Amino acid sequence: MTAQVQAIRGMSDILPADTAVWAHVEATLRGVLGGYGYREIRVPILERTELFQRSIGEVTDIVEKEMYTFDDRNGLSLTLRPEATAGIVRAAIENGLVHNQRHRLWSTGPMFRYEKPQKGRYRQFHQFDIEALGYPGPDIDAELIIMLARAWRLLGIRHLDLQLNSIGMPEGRARYREALTAYFRGHLDELDEDSRRRLERNPLRILDSKNPAMQELIAGAPLITACLDADSAAHFASVQAMLSAAGIAFRVNPRLVRGLDYYNRTVFEWVTDQLGTQGAVCAGGRYDGLVEQLGGSPMPAIGCAIGLERLAELFRLGGGAAASCTPEVYLVAVGDAAVAAGMRLAENLRDGRPGLRLEVNCGGGGFKAQMRRADASGAVVALVLGEDELAAGTIGVKGLRREGGQQTVSQDGVLAALAPLLDHPPGN
Ligand code: ATP
Ligand code: MG
Repeated sequence: MTAQVQAIRGMSDILPADTAVWAHVEATLRGVLGGYGYREIRVPILERTELFQRSIGEVTDIVEKEMYTFDDRNGLSLTLRPEATAGIVRAAIENGLVHNQRHRLWSTGPMFRYEKPQKGRYRQFHQFDIEALGYPGPDIDAELIIMLARAWRLLGIRHLDLQLNSIGMPEGRARYREALTAYFRGHLDELDEDSRRRLERNPLRILDSKNPAMQELIAGAPLITACLDADSAAHFASVQAMLSAAGIAFRVNPRLVRGLDYYNRTVFEWVTDQLGTQGAVCAGGRYDGLVEQLGGSPMPAIGCAIGLERLAELFRLGGGAAASCTPEVYLVAVGDAAVAAGMRLAENLRDGRPGLRLEVNCGGGGFKAQMRRADASGAVVALVLGEDELAAGTIGVKGLRREGGQQTVSQDGVLAALAPLLDHPPGN
């Protein structure tokens, strides 16, 4: 046998058995977002590398070690997008959506990060991305979170906890940086290699470390809360008040700083203990400086990304089921003339009953073999078309989920005969 070509490590196929859950989760999110005035935007998967360097930040996990970067045939450095915000902001600036405007946007698709693959962490994964451009908040901050809570509710997902923090403005963060650097310098020997490297260039990233050995040291570090300016503190208080008024539970986590450089003020994460170590399902924050930083006129903004692999898994764990894609009706047609007539009849049935899931036997086979396929298909009803039926202009209607339910009806009367069987499938 010839050797097989294998998929790339960390990049999964989503098979037909799973796509119904994905489609359901995505459709639910689309529906919820539409209800809040969010509209879809689609941007390329490839961007110039500098877009991510300038937005995400040079001293971040993503830019330092996770990007899929390569030169195209012209020597231009391109990167497979590791996240969606940078591309959406670029598109907004380039298409004139920024100046004195407001846009509530969403987008979805694959993201690429060269990470160590494990459960819940892949090299190609999917995000559902939400961005509100041109809104200074705090109202939109609260609404974004309230909207997410609605999505979780509609998906039947519990066990998601909201963590919230404010990381203030760049000036306060500079002061915090100094305090943090001083603290970690005093504990140099306890820092791991990554953190030592980050100490001078970006000490905030140390708080993001996933190394268990570092957690105690991190727990003792000074808090960013002390460095908040008055406006940021008021903004944060207001977000919290609106969430409380809406009945949304949250926990202020003063150590939540987020792994990307462009955030300011409100940052948040929805986390679960149901998925093992990869517990963050949705994360985001305000990025008031990014549009200007990427060459647009200044524009406040907030956004977040939902990890769809993790959300779909949580949906399944919660017992959520998606609408079935198994056929309702299987059409058995024996003989060439019956196959041609069956195809035509099937078209009429689909016209007459939109949404009908009807599978026509293709690939031949005798009556018995076709009936076995009909049973295996999961259909509730088999329609049987052979030479006799063809000659008489009739068709057999056989219930597959209970004994002896077979009748012969005229071909014009099939829909009427199907209706009671499909509207109240036996056994349901
Ligand atoms: P982490 O700190 O766990 O690496 P992150 O800060 O890099 O997370 P974000 O960039 O905020 O993650 O991405 C938003 C969400 O996308 C995450 O909360 C998670 O649900 C999902 N996500 C991120 N990276 C991956 C991945 N490699 N595989 C699957 N899902 C991911
Ligand atoms: Mg990461």
